[in-house]
Amino acid sequence: EPDTVADAARALAGASRVAVLSGAGISTESGIPDFRGPNGLWTRDPSSERLSSLEAYRSDPDVRLRSWQARLTHPVWTALPNDGHRALVALERAGRLAAILTQNIDGLHQKAGSDPERVVELHGSMFDTVCLGCADRRPMSAALERVRAGEADPPCLDCGGILKSATISFGQALDLAVLLAAKEVAQSCEVMLVVGSSLGVQPAAGLVGLAARAGAAVVICNAGQTPYDHLATAIVREPLGEVLPALVRA
Ligand code: NAD
Repeated sequence: EPDTVADAARALAGASRVAVLSGAGISTESGIPDFRGPNGLWTRDPSSERLSSLEAYRSDPDVRLRSWQARLTHPVWTALPNDGHRALVALERAGRLAAILTQNIDGLHQKAGSDPERVVELHGSMFDTVCLGCADRRPMSAALERVRAGEADPPCLDCGGILKSATISFGQALDLAVLLAAKEVAQSCEVMLVVGSSLGVQPAAGLVGLAARAGAAVVICNAGQTPYDHLATAIVREPLGEVLPALVRA
């Protein structure tokens, strides 16, 4: 389907307020596996989805031990942005970007050079910890140092509560101010450009419907199908590291 990038480019042409909704698929080419793609973490081991719930983390010390061990060697610490992230920086520099609404927690949009003020982290960030008791927030690096020094499940230094990465787990509400900011962008954009998301997680996926109802064109760049494909004026299935540079050039 050689035309699909051209169709997507036509939908974007002339738009000065493009909202990007990004998901794990934009970072797979940086070596961070997604959840539901063909090589996704949950596709390979469906039982791991349970371990991503807030309830499991809070109630099961074993889940926390395993989470801290996984954080020690997590690919996000060393991952580098790819051509897909960089194309979105070019879109911003061309004056076309309203904001990047990202479900990713890997910080790669900011690392690529996107203005941090235009990156809305719907699901938080791996680079901070938050206390489930007193909400104290600190750099993840400090907690990881404590784990390396022998604390298997380091407690909050202020209140002794349970520390977790400052990311949204299943069963955990999004930060309301962050969600409202994202909704405002969705309702006022001219184009909603979805990149690398299966659109299977609410309320993030609902931002696409919100944008469409407010009159925005929807363009979906994603290898797999999504429940919102019927709303799209253009769909591109090729790898994002190639598609996004071509789209922004066009
Ligand atoms: P997902 O795993 O549900 O879907 C990713 C989609 O991207 C899939 O449909 C897949 O076909 C597509 N895809 C993968 N690589 C691609 C490529 N190179 N080119 C084009 N398409 C590609 O991801 P999601 O929708 O973001 O939802 C998963 C949840 O997990 C999110 O809430 C997110 O917070 C979290 N998560 C984040 C990261 C990260 O920060 N990088 C990684 C894994 C999961």
